[in-house]
Amino acid sequence: MLALFSVGKESFTSKQHMTMQSQDPAMRLQDLQYFGEFGGVNPSIEDSATYTFLNASKMEEMFEQELAGCYLYSRHWNPMNRYLSDALAAMEGTEAAQVTASGMAAISTALMQLCSHGDEIICGRMVYGGTYALLKNFLPRFGIITRFVDITNPDKIRQAINPRTKVIYCETVSNPLLEVADIPTLAQIAHANGLQLVVDNTFAPMLVSPARLGADIVIHSLTKYINGTSDTVAGAICGSKAFIGSLTDVNFGASMLLGPVMDSLRSASVLKNLRSLHVRMKQHSANASYLAQSFANMGIRTIYLGLHTHPQHQLFTRLLNPGYGYGGMVVIDMGTKQAAYELMEAMQEEKVGYLAVSLGFFRTLFSSPGSSTSSEIPEAERLQMGLTDGLVRISVGLDNDIEDIFQRITRCLEAVVI
Ligand SMILES: *Cc1c(COP(=O)(O)O)cnc(C)c1O
Repeated sequence: MLALFSVGKESFTSKQHMTMQSQDPAMRLQDLQYFGEFGGVNPSIEDSATYTFLNASKMEEMFEQELAGCYLYSRHWNPMNRYLSDALAAMEGTEAAQVTASGMAAISTALMQLCSHGDEIICGRMVYGGTYALLKNFLPRFGIITRFVDITNPDKIRQAINPRTKVIYCETVSNPLLEVADIPTLAQIAHANGLQLVVDNTFAPMLVSPARLGADIVIHSLTKYINGTSDTVAGAICGSKAFIGSLTDVNFGASMLLGPVMDSLRSASVLKNLRSLHVRMKQHSANASYLAQSFANMGIRTIYLGLHTHPQHQLFTRLLNPGYGYGGMVVIDMGTKQAAYELMEAMQEEKVGYLAVSLGFFRTLFSSPGSSTSSEIPEAERLQMGLTDGLVRISVGLDNDIEDIFQRITRCLEAVVI
């Protein structure tokens, strides 16, 4: 044991990095083997805001550049955040990553680092409501303007590019209509024009690896599938060593200066949950696939990426890492807001799951996106996109007997007056 620790934790993990070549995100993650300070099977939690130096000149050096294995102050980096960040980088196949206190913190930090006053962002028109509000209402205060386009139409994106454009921003799978971004094509457009492609992969961890398809920066809300227990908000930015390093520059880094640091105790719990993500994603996908097929068989308009009726089923199939299915999100159209509300209330009564926003929980969660998670988008724009009031978004849980759950849903559907 002693010999192992004399190598030093940092050099040990970086050596592991070099050997990680697997095409499979779960394999890349699994091979990142950590040891605690006393040989524990989980890394030790370093519960400190500040760190000691044995000599003063080393501290001075640390302000100028990062020194491997050295820590300065917890907002800059702390060991537990480093472990979780390295694990997420391994999963996404990027050189580096940095965890943040929420998904929104990851998005705002990354974009504030990439863009300055006068710059422009091209963004999918149907992104997460918080992202939409950030880009539409908040960033213009700092002179950063966003053009919202139909991300499934490459011509519209090309037309929106001008000399001020810095970033193309999209979600792998959009919320709630489950539109797919053609990441390889977007990367090609971005790079031909000297732009950065930023992809929010919150809906499709393990399923899709955007960086391996050409994205420059991959964002996650860890709050959803990755943590999976709906007990914390957290986020991550995955990208090149240079970009992640720039975030923590003590003079110019958005992460260092805006301070979206995650607490190290939380990092520890998220890392443990991340270890079972591949198993959970398979079960979410299997259950969602069963429900989607069952809804479709009943003649209910159903949006699910695994259904052949989804207009981008084939595109998504091409982007997928094999073996994880088509994800856990199913959307059904109940026609009216009243029917949607009645169904959701009945499903909570029948213990199908919870009437709650968010996703990726071990139990099923359902909400009406038009009046909740996408309510930041003006009604006229929502309707134009097909985001109607009767939609029910279902984040399918890890239920052991999904056939039984569908019988409960059937009883709820029968009770709803359409
Ligand atoms: C939830 C979510 C976010 C925001 O993440 P928080 O952790 O809630 O800050 C961003 N993007 C997508 C796609 C999300 O679902």
